[in-house]
Amino acid sequence: MRALPALACVLVVAAGALFAQNPKKKDDPAQIGNRDVGKGINIYSIEREMALGKQLAQEVQRQAKVVEDPLVSEYINRTGQNLVRSSDAKVPFTFQVIEGDSPNAFALPGGYVFVYTGLIKLADEEDELAAALAHEIAHVAARHMTKQATKSEIVNLASIPASILLGGGIGAIAARQGANLGIPAVFLHFTRRDEAEADYLGLQYMYAAGYDPNGAISIFEKIQSLQKRQPGTLARVFSTHPMDADRIEKAEKEIGRILPARDEYIVNTSEYRAIRERLINLKRPAAGRGGEEDTERPTIRRRDLVE
Ligand code: ZN
Repeated sequence: MRALPALACVLVVAAGALFAQNPKKKDDPAQIGNRDVGKGINIYSIEREMALGKQLAQEVQRQAKVVEDPLVSEYINRTGQNLVRSSDAKVPFTFQVIEGDSPNAFALPGGYVFVYTGLIKLADEEDELAAALAHEIAHVAARHMTKQATKSEIVNLASIPASILLGGGIGAIAARQGANLGIPAVFLHFTRRDEAEADYLGLQYMYAAGYDPNGAISIFEKIQSLQKRQPGTLARVFSTHPMDADRIEKAEKEIGRILPARDEYIVNTSEYRAIRERLINLKRPAAGRGGEEDTERPTIRRRDLVE
């Protein structure tokens, strides 16, 4: 990794100072939508960011196997839009499921979110999927990608082949192909601070949409467990930084600190169960699953039952 030029360092410091001006709003989920979480030094206009995202998304759609099943498409989009409405994001979003065993999701600039089937298989409950979607929405709302691009002074983001994106999420680009393309590792590599911010905002978004924020803890722990079982192959899951105990503990503390307990949360829905089964069976017919409980109402977790 080469050292950042001095100018970029100045920009980073300046962006940090701007960000620190308004710490309270960012801690208050009641202020969602009114907090300018995307502010900071950025050479991309929103319009340019959206055009860039669209171009990259078209490449992804050409090269990935998008799940075309209308029930799945409609479900992921509606679930995603519901979270977007509870977020700080200022751009329109699209959500698509693509085939891939890695339990991963990634967002492109301008609101294009892709979810691997592997993530839906790992997420037993809808609040776990919502945690992943909310995290990706947060990266877009906070404009992390274009801020990173700004910092690293790389303007020609659109020239990156989307096939690289499919190798395991955004982080894999820098890790595996960055050297070949002459891209500094800092580019498209969310910083630990970006990841922490996406975790923090994502928790608020899922909470604001009515989900149990502990769904995030649950999916984080599953990812951490997978990383332990299959080190290396899953190191890029969810982020450029592996899930670790500190990250999980931080999320738990944040839930306790800023998300007042509610009487009821959405944990799962019969619709999600059906969609998940459908995806599992699309790839592996007659897998011997089924017999799961069937209810029309969302599963509600009473607060007093939560540890
Ligand atoms: Zn992330």
